[in-house]
Amino acid sequence: MSAPHWIQPHPQGIYVAPADCWVDPSVAVERALVTHGHADHARGGHGETLATPETLAIMDLRYNTREGAVPVAYGETLRLAGGVDATYLPAGHVLGSAQILLEHAGERVVITGDYKRRADPTCAPFELTPCDIFITEATFGLPIFTHPPITEEIGKLLGALEANPEACVLVGAYALGKAQRVIAELRAAGHHDPIYLHGAMERMCRLYEDLGVPLGELRLVADHTKEEMRGGVVVCPPSALNDRWSRRLPDPITAMASGWMRVRQRARQRNVELPLVISDHADWHELTQTVLEVNPRETWITHGREEALLRWHELHQRKARALALVGYEDEDD
Ligand SMILES: [Zn+2]
Ligand SMILES: [Zn+2]
Repeated sequence: MSAPHWIQPHPQGIYVAPADCWVDPSVAVERALVTHGHADHARGGHGETLATPETLAIMDLRYNTREGAVPVAYGETLRLAGGVDATYLPAGHVLGSAQILLEHAGERVVITGDYKRRADPTCAPFELTPCDIFITEATFGLPIFTHPPITEEIGKLLGALEANPEACVLVGAYALGKAQRVIAELRAAGHHDPIYLHGAMERMCRLYEDLGVPLGELRLVADHTKEEMRGGVVVCPPSALNDRWSRRLPDPITAMASGWMRVRQRARQRNVELPLVISDHADWHELTQTVLEVNPRETWITHGREEALLRWHELHQRKARALALVGYEDEDD
């Protein structure tokens, strides 16, 4: 059997022909099905945006998209035009993130968006969904990418804090997802001291709390003195790590939470002293394991290092193709 003609990959997104709608389009369209709130998937300006209530809240905070918002709960099936059914299933990536299952003419297509398989206290776990065509991300699609257990990385962070009681640990983390996960994991590891936030993280952290993800006591760096912040954890966007802004902190030890921290050169580029390999994406093992478990007739690979995963499919006598979608960046690594 060949690929279904009703799902059409274009550079600006995946077009669902019978329903005349797009999944994660990079341009404004009449009707968009959005997997999650990261900027490379979610954009403003669509006529209608179909997404989970959490993703819609995140998009509204970031892009003012209240108009045309259509909430879809996990597990709920929507009947779209042209006899296409859409079901949103948890992707385990960030709060509200969904895989989208599309069913049409007896065929099942799953679009993962970004996903991971590890437990994450800030979002619902990935749900394995059998299908004919599995459209997967491949951000970390190289065998060198293995993410260690997050407890190990959080342990390193807390170890640095303990060894340097007069300093603080400044953690660079993306404002949507990574920051809240690091904070929630610190709490789970028994760290209940106030955590200090760069102003740019505040609204998203508050939104997470409003949506039922407790993060403990959060304080704004701007409201506190150097002395008060000694021995504390400070979270900021990666762009603020080497910024003048950090001069107000007490002897910061610079850390960064990202899957890219596996690559030493990336840590060096950002002057990161304490690289924390914490990713919200599947690593190589999870990517390949998930393909084996989903066992699709065909895999389509998006954003990332497609070549190694294509080769892996070849070696395992599996059909796969790389989709050349544009605009997928690593905002959310
Ligand atoms: Zn992405
Ligand atoms: Zn993402």
